[in-house]
Amino acid sequence: MNVIFLGPPGAGKGTLASRLVASTGLDHLSTGDMLREEIKNNTELGKEAKQYIDEGKLVPDTLIIDMVKQRLSHTKAGVMFDGFPRTVAQAKALDGITTIDAVINLSTTVNVVIDRIGGRRLCKQCGAVYNVSWYSKSLCEKCGGELYTRADDTEETIKKRFDVYLAETAPLIDYYRDKQLVHDIDANGDIQEKIDAISAIIESVK
Ligand code: ADP
Ligand code: ZN
Repeated sequence: MNVIFLGPPGAGKGTLASRLVASTGLDHLSTGDMLREEIKNNTELGKEAKQYIDEGKLVPDTLIIDMVKQRLSHTKAGVMFDGFPRTVAQAKALDGITTIDAVINLSTTVNVVIDRIGGRRLCKQCGAVYNVSWYSKSLCEKCGGELYTRADDTEETIKKRFDVYLAETAPLIDYYRDKQLVHDIDANGDIQEKIDAISAIIESVK
């Protein structure tokens, strides 16, 4: 059982997927988190990816596809994909690896995205995501790690990432609609309502 979370940067893919791990038993696979881990560990992949990420561009498909394949080779549970696939080439590669049961399409606008990402803070240690609008402390409430602002969370880069989303990732909505897999969720709604709606979708396709 595999689910894809689709939507622009800041739509809440990561927050929602991480909140659904316990109740669904699905693994949360975030390519953004995986890349940030590579950068933190200063690996070859991390060094290569950083140049693209800092400019708000997509990391080349081949690097991403290899990284995901590797991760899936030692994942037994079903997966919630967050931030992958992001291009039609990635979606086609994923079709060759596994079956997708549902695509959660989180829709929102560029203004909401800029507001949300502008206040975003991440934990250096565990990657938990916060927003200054509801969390003003400087340490993570889960692990005590220090919170920081992502280098690619500037207004300029956010706009660029939204444009990249429209050009490269939005076509995936039709790609999956043709396969009748898409479930639309308003990303601007109440968080608990979204969690309930997505849980129900996952239950229904299980
Ligand atoms: P957001 O959803 O806020 O854009 P992510 O953490 O998902 O953040 O991604 C951060 C950056 O990592 C992207 O802007 C992109 O450069 C890179 N990235 C993540 N996933 C992919 C992917 N599937 N394909 C290409 N680049 C990716
Ligand atoms: Zn933490």
